[in-house]
Amino acid sequence: MEKKLISIIIPAYNEAENIPFIYREIKDIFKNIPYKCEIIFVNDGSADNTQEILKNLAGKDEQVKYLEFSRNFGKEIATTAGINKCNGDACFMIDADLQHPTELIPKFIEKWEAGAETVIGIRKKNNNEGLVKRFGSLLFYGFMNKAGGTKIIPNATDFRLIDRKVINEFNKFTEGNRITRGLLDWLGFKKYFVYFEANERIRGKAGYGVFKLFNLTVDALVGHSLFLLKLVGKLGVIIILTSGPLGIFIFIEKYILNDPFDFNFSGPAILAVIILFLVGIILVCLGLIALYIGNIQNEVVNRPLYVIRDKKI
Ligand code: UDP
Ligand code: MG
Repeated sequence: MEKKLISIIIPAYNEAENIPFIYREIKDIFKNIPYKCEIIFVNDGSADNTQEILKNLAGKDEQVKYLEFSRNFGKEIATTAGINKCNGDACFMIDADLQHPTELIPKFIEKWEAGAETVIGIRKKNNNEGLVKRFGSLLFYGFMNKAGGTKIIPNATDFRLIDRKVINEFNKFTEGNRITRGLLDWLGFKKYFVYFEANERIRGKAGYGVFKLFNLTVDALVGHSLFLLKLVGKLGVIIILTSGPLGIFIFIEKYILNDPFDFNFSGPAILAVIILFLVGIILVCLGLIALYIGNIQNEVVNRPLYVIRDKKI
């Protein structure tokens, strides 16, 4: 029987130092299991000599393929491109920095053969993460799951295997503003979880700073749910429910009962407070509407998701 093909997709942004190591690890693993593999590196506009190293590897090993982006498009788009172009019966998404333990690959494949259509790596802990990042991820999952949009599994990582069926469905998504794992969760399919401890990043720098992660969270919130818009609606209701009765109280107290409590509210003061409140609401609404319109705009113009300068696939 023909051996099944497994595609390994590795987004790489300035990972020149890590590529030889991850390549070696994967080759070693596939020596011992009865599967063919193709390793697809997606060079996400690296500024170092990542591309040179990839070309070199690809020249020597026909299992190594690459896509080179014309600039940095971000990891989500890089993994998307890999999934779009891969040929495997299943594909893996793995970080280039060796933080995802490649020795678990056979276990993922085993679960896949046993019927799982998506095998998801769940991170147990990450010693290397700062407090801000950890708190941020807590907020992120809390928010996303409260928001009632796509349910996202806490600590689920991009370290995943997906079946060809899932790949084909994933390839139908057209949105530009995307979180790959969010879309995969949205797709459903039979899931299986594998728990692992993330290794520390030994070489190179993490490409995701706090700012980039914050942007990712905002994108996820706007792209996957109407939470923010609904929040503003609720805020509006609360303000109306408090300022309305207050206004009525002032009106009755001052003008109908002729100020029995001696509050002596001045007309302009009352007006100023009310107007300030309303202006505040309007500004918040405008800001949010801008966010949503920005999102719609991105989808409507339907730009290509990425631009490839060079490839071997
Ligand atoms: N990455 C990418 N484009 C970027 C940033 C990162 O392709 O703009 C890749 C990076 O090379 C690595 C993976 O995405 O293979 C995870 O990145 P990183 O280690 O910086 O993220 P973290 O481990 O903090 O989630
Ligand atoms: Mg990393």
